[in-house]
Amino acid sequence: MNLILVGPPGAGKGTQAERIQQDFGLPYFATGNILRAAVADGTDLGKQAKAFMDDGKLVPDELIIGVLLEALQSADAADGFLLDGFPRTIAQADALGEALGKVGRKITAVLLIDVPDEEVVRRLSGRRECAKNHHTYHVDFDPPKHEGVCDQDGSKLIQRDDDKPEVIKKRLVTYHEQTEPLVDYYEGRDLLRRFDGSRTPTEVHDHVRATIATLRLEDAI
Ligand code: ADP
Ligand code: ADP
Repeated sequence: MNLILVGPPGAGKGTQAERIQQDFGLPYFATGNILRAAVADGTDLGKQAKAFMDDGKLVPDELIIGVLLEALQSADAADGFLLDGFPRTIAQADALGEALGKVGRKITAVLLIDVPDEEVVRRLSGRRECAKNHHTYHVDFDPPKHEGVCDQDGSKLIQRDDDKPEVIKKRLVTYHEQTEPLVDYYEGRDLLRRFDGSRTPTEVHDHVRATIATLRLEDAI
């Protein structure tokens, strides 16, 4: 199964991805995590990407497409993958479709998790992420057992640089302008599945898991 998660920043893609990985054991590739690791490591990619990320803009297609396609060629992704945060532009979607087609693979489904803009602001301003493994929390909606510490690996919880109010607003504009067109793009290819991201994490997860289980059955037939 080759699955893609799409949705505005803060919709709950990472939160659901954690659960989907546990359910189905799919290798997970999140371009935001890949880019933040590159920034932290001070690689060329990180140096080029940082200013765009801090400004709520997308990193240029030519920087990210190669990185992602290379990751998908790894042995890890040979039997399927779960993508989060890629594609984010039509050009990225075209490049992904083409690369998969060349090796006789295709996208199984695109899972759209949607929430209104005002909910995005509430979620991102309270988001905390663990320093080690990107486990996600929210100060009000999903607090850790001990303040500032990850329940799962004990590492410190941090706030992302781009989860500040002024950058959040820019990221929303970027989403509506550059990423939302993917909804029609994938709907036209009959790949889109919609989920109401304003429900609780467990309700969203139940719905997503049931959909993936059905897709898997159809795939096996
Ligand atoms: P969110 O959790 O808010 O959806 P991500 O962690 O996926 O955000 O991405 C953080 C930032 O990394 C984005 O604002 C953007 O600058 C950059 N980024 C991530 N994925 C891509 C991509 N596919 N194309 C361009 N930029 C990307
Ligand atoms: P994304 O990966 O789409 O940017 P995250 O999974 O990081 O989104 O979630 C953004 C914030 O909202 C996090 O603080 C997370 O704990 C919280 N969150 C995620 N899903 C829900 C939900 N269904 N209801 C309330 N808060 C949520």
